[in-house]
Amino acid sequence: VTTVVVFADGRLDQLPGAAREATAIARAASGASGKAIGVYVGSKVAAGEFARAGLDKVHHLDRTESKVPSNAQIAESVAKVAREQNARLIVVNGTTRGRDLVGRLAVSFDAAAATAVTQLEVTSGDSIRVSRPVFGGRATQELELLGPRAVVSLKGHAFPAGEPTASAAPIEPLGLPDGASDKVLGFTPAGGASGPELGEATIVVSGGRGLKGPESFHLVEELAQSLGAAVGASRAVTDAGWRPTSLQVGQTGKSVSPQLYIAVGISGAIQHLVGMMSSRVIVAINSDPQAPIFRVADYGIVGDAAKIVPALTQEIRRVRGSA
Ligand SMILES: Cc1cc2nc3c(=O)[nH]c(=O)nc-3n(C[C@H](O)[C@H](O)[C@H](O)COP(=O)(O)OP(=O)(O)OC[C@H]3O[C@@H](n4cnc5c(N)ncnc54)[C@H](O)[C@@H]3O)c2cc1C
Repeated sequence: VTTVVVFADGRLDQLPGAAREATAIARAASGASGKAIGVYVGSKVAAGEFARAGLDKVHHLDRTESKVPSNAQIAESVAKVAREQNARLIVVNGTTRGRDLVGRLAVSFDAAAATAVTQLEVTSGDSIRVSRPVFGGRATQELELLGPRAVVSLKGHAFPAGEPTASAAPIEPLGLPDGASDKVLGFTPAGGASGPELGEATIVVSGGRGLKGPESFHLVEELAQSLGAAVGASRAVTDAGWRPTSLQVGQTGKSVSPQLYIAVGISGAIQHLVGMMSSRVIVAINSDPQAPIFRVADYGIVGDAAKIVPALTQEIRRVRGSA
């Protein structure tokens, strides 16, 4: 592999972690002598950070205006960059747009494709091997992507993010083909969540059915607040309408990979575990010592959440001097 194109996108002025993860993988795949060329769709400030993520060049599409090109146009532009660079591989970050682009890129770039990849290896024979979770994380599929070109999207948080570099790569505007544009009519905040964004937070405190009812869920929110953490929930909680689905962690919710994950009153069903298992340190609070969550937990507290959580919150506030 000599040249790898990295596609990344974001909505804010800060470069998302997913973009750094994709860049680190592209850099590793291109090898010491290869090139990594970035395409960023998002703000100018974030594109500037992207240029310092370890790339040789960045093509930037400013999409802070309300009129944005369609994903079909973006895919065509990214494929054009890849063809011009004679790239072997396109790495797409694990965002909503990223997922939408993979199929289009596979066609425009005439490439083998794999989505939600958690491992990527380039063998000495220049073959690209990837792993991806299937059947809701119960099995891992290993694939060899045959053919001269490949496109993969990454599963969020599956790879370590690279460190910023001292020098910045040159930034050029991304040219767009003619075609229909999309018009963004607006964004509706998901609601219910205060504090850091769940997918990017370094600490997450999640609550489950063990909290007994919506009237007790504030215990989880207060613990989260005392730690500056994001709030998450099991599907039992979101299905019951105690909290919005935007907080759901797991197979059909968000994948999180914080430094610290605290699971309160969550049994640890496999569909929940696949969304948080890669957290660095897992703490479980559950009244049942046999609960499966304890099998993945680094620290476990057996007892009633209604008693333990307020005591923990109080102690954290005391230690942090915010009582
Ligand atoms: C296709 C599919 C997709 C799914 N996707 C997801 C997903 O994305 N995310 C997800 O979370 N689930 C998902 N599920 C559901 C999943 O299988 C579980 O049903 C769900 O995670 C259970 O939520 P829970 O742990 O909060 O509730 P429960 O399984 O009811 O567990 C409650 C826990 O609280 C403990 N408890 C009870 N009282 C107390 C107390 N006083 N103090 C402390 N602990 C107490 C109990 O011991 C128990 O372990 C999915 C299921 C399917 C079939």
